[in-house]
Amino acid sequence: IITVIGSINTDMVTVTESLPNQGETVIGDQFKMKPGGKGANQAVAAARLGANVQMIGKVGQDQNGADMLKALKKENVSIRMVETAPKINTGIANIILSNNDNRIIIVPGANDKVTPEYVSQFKEDIRNSDLVLIQFEIPVDTIIYCLDLCNEYNIPIIVNPAPAKKIASDYWSKATYITPNESEYTQLFDFKDRSSGFNDKLIVTKGAHGVSYSMNDEYMTLPAYSVNAVDTTGAGDTFNGALAVALSEKKPISTSIKFANAASALSIQKFGAQDGMPTRTEVESFLRK
Ligand code: ADP
Repeated sequence: IITVIGSINTDMVTVTESLPNQGETVIGDQFKMKPGGKGANQAVAAARLGANVQMIGKVGQDQNGADMLKALKKENVSIRMVETAPKINTGIANIILSNNDNRIIIVPGANDKVTPEYVSQFKEDIRNSDLVLIQFEIPVDTIIYCLDLCNEYNIPIIVNPAPAKKIASDYWSKATYITPNESEYTQLFDFKDRSSGFNDKLIVTKGAHGVSYSMNDEYMTLPAYSVNAVDTTGAGDTFNGALAVALSEKKPISTSIKFANAASALSIQKFGAQDGMPTRTEVESFLRK
């Protein structure tokens, strides 16, 4: 079983040709509300690929919260450990898509209430996991708590440091894998860190340029698959969910990265973070081509 500890958001997606300047109003092309949040996205990505997935998180007591729970349930993600918090909004991501670029404002709401105390109720569920997957859209204290707990229980933990936040460098070494994208990598791991024990832990995703990682101190890059990108929102989430699935099945790291690369290439061919996430069959047939 894979345990995802992380955020649940409603994505409010506006598609527009032109972006407004300060004080200006422009007319957009499209608006859609979609389930999102890095935690929920990664949980759904893993569940679509056939894994047994449970989520630890919170939504608010509002319509979005109810909708997000329903969406997770429909995807076969266990929501037993997702609480509806009173008097707070469900996490919101205001996403502006414009000419293949995205700009995002997040209001965390209930995600900020995913505290160490809250997670500590589920210690036994964490202890019984094959793998834990975590992102940075919940409080830093909670991330640190989960790293300590997984180390204590000897459970592999993938840390997707998105969005980038600094944590004490001792804690990075508690992660089994760290999966920043290129900009998170630059923000968090400057060159002087290169010699300090992150080798064989770091898996850096580079969009259309694929993935760089090191194994036995040898640095490697796996190219991305060449596809027609429609919406790259959630590419990294599909990557992390798929990576978690492959690693939880004890696949070797290079095979796991290749699998995740294929899953995320498939996911960006459809609009929406979760809509394009592929099934196991789709990834396997894509890899056979
Ligand atoms: P994020 O979505 O977190 O910014 P990236 O942009 O690095 O992360 O994308 C994650 C992964 O998704 C990449 O490593 C790659 O496998 C895949 N991917 C993203 N963009 C493309 C693209 N244009 N073509 C093919 N694969 C892509």
